[in-house]
Amino acid sequence: MPGTTRLGPYRSRSRGGGGMGRGDAVVVGGGLAGTLAAAALLGHVDTVTVVERDRYPEQPVFRKGVPQGRHLHVLLSGGRRALEKLLPGINAELEAAGAHRLEAPRDVITRAPNGWQHRFHEGRHATLSCTRALLDATVRTRVLAGAERSGTRVEVLQATEVTGLLGGADRVTGVRVRSRAAERAERELPADLVIDASGRGSRAPKWLGDLGHRAPREEVVDAGIGYCTQMFRPAAPWDMVMVIQPRPDCPRGAAWSPVEGGNWLLTLAGVRGHHPPTEGSAVPDFVRSLGEPALDDHLRTCEPVSPPYGFRDTSNRRRHYDARGGVPEGFLAVSDAACTFNPIYGQGMSVAALSGLALRRCLSDGSPLRPGFTARAQHAVARASDTAWLTAIGADRPYAAASDTTPPGVAERVQSWYFERLAARAAIDPVVGAAFRDVTYLAAPPSRLVSPAVALRTVLLPRARGLTSPPLRVEA
Ligand SMILES: Cc1cc2nc3c(=O)[nH]c(=O)nc-3n(C[C@H](O)[C@H](O)[C@H](O)COP(=O)(O)OP(=O)(O)OC[C@H]3O[C@@H](n4cnc5c(N)ncnc54)[C@H](O)[C@@H]3O)c2cc1C
Repeated sequence: MPGTTRLGPYRSRSRGGGGMGRGDAVVVGGGLAGTLAAAALLGHVDTVTVVERDRYPEQPVFRKGVPQGRHLHVLLSGGRRALEKLLPGINAELEAAGAHRLEAPRDVITRAPNGWQHRFHEGRHATLSCTRALLDATVRTRVLAGAERSGTRVEVLQATEVTGLLGGADRVTGVRVRSRAAERAERELPADLVIDASGRGSRAPKWLGDLGHRAPREEVVDAGIGYCTQMFRPAAPWDMVMVIQPRPDCPRGAAWSPVEGGNWLLTLAGVRGHHPPTEGSAVPDFVRSLGEPALDDHLRTCEPVSPPYGFRDTSNRRRHYDARGGVPEGFLAVSDAACTFNPIYGQGMSVAALSGLALRRCLSDGSPLRPGFTARAQHAVARASDTAWLTAIGADRPYAAASDTTPPGVAERVQSWYFERLAARAAIDPVVGAAFRDVTYLAAPPSRLVSPAVALRTVLLPRARGLTSPPLRVEA
């Protein structure tokens, strides 16, 4: 069948009697989270069928199913480490393919609301910057190659869409799929485990409702951020990533980061009323309004190699599938399908990797055929996204719309106050800065932010300004 990739030993697809009795899994969506979920399943189930609506391009280029793929996608240090644990050697492969390894804060200079952060070599946070297309293609190739040795038969159904779930309110037993080819035939695909990795547009709440299972409670915190990204080719050398964070008097920001092939991506962002333009001619004015002449001057020497692309749906949205009774047996939602974040914090792909690791741990602890597996796994996957969720909503609360589904309680207001003070201190204080980076780069749990040393410096020391101009040299 065109658009079908089969890898690994063939085993019968009949459930119960075929294969080695470890069960059949279906993954809905073959994006990054779906591919990493498939990686976690290798060796733990008989078959994995990844159903992907798109047809993968021959070369690593943008595809429609991942509309955010034109925007800057940085892999944080916590996600980079998780990815390496799932797929040993993958970071070296990505670097060999052109991804840039960037140490924060040495290679990433940041203008926080209270000034420029000091720039020094901490040696704890190596991040990766490349196009999303390159990252996805490299990871996918690697996972499919690993399938051949895993004892799990992997099948990728491309140009095929999942249109609903099979089963009942208490147990999901497969999916209904429709080919996107001319005949558009619908058929049923039985499975012991269905993993929804269909991204921020997931229709699983509706599909579960169709089976009589309640939809998950949703929590939304929307800072109303608008995004725009344009690719450039610099003529003059420039050796650092520049990040300009929004601040109350200028709620606009930017990030300038290298990708493969000698190109750089400029991502602009702004809260309601300050959305960046999507016409190329208006981009320089927006950049000028950030008040950073160094970036402004450098961009003048760069040649645009793409138009600017916009993106508006940037809310933090959590579906509480991990609540008691939140998922029926046989169903699990991962990554963006369960929890999305304001992209300005660059966390989603790292959460996909951390979720893949959490899923693999659950599979090592017990068969997906055992009762209660999906509830346990859903809980573990939700814990893998807690740090990202708490830091994103902590930072976004002050900008959130009044209509958001979850107005903050007292505890959350105190958290936001503390977080704002801590973020300001992090720009100037190495102790607080190290803790702040550990947590916001998803390499440590939020408890690191309330250790005595960090809490005392955050609460007791007076507010101070950061550097007044970009630190062009690395401090000793
Ligand atoms: C503007 C923007 C910038 C971002 N920047 C960063 C960043 O710098 N760093 C970072 O870590 N994260 C970033 N993110 C987040 C990141 O894009 C997501 O967290 C990540 O893509 C999640 O991966 P996923 O596989 O869950 O979803 P997706 O990447 O969206 O993949 C979903 C897949 O499912 C397929 N699909 C959907 N529905 C169906 C169906 N019914 N049947 C079959 N297939 C289906 C789609 O075709 C697609 O392939 C950003 C997000 C946005 C919006």
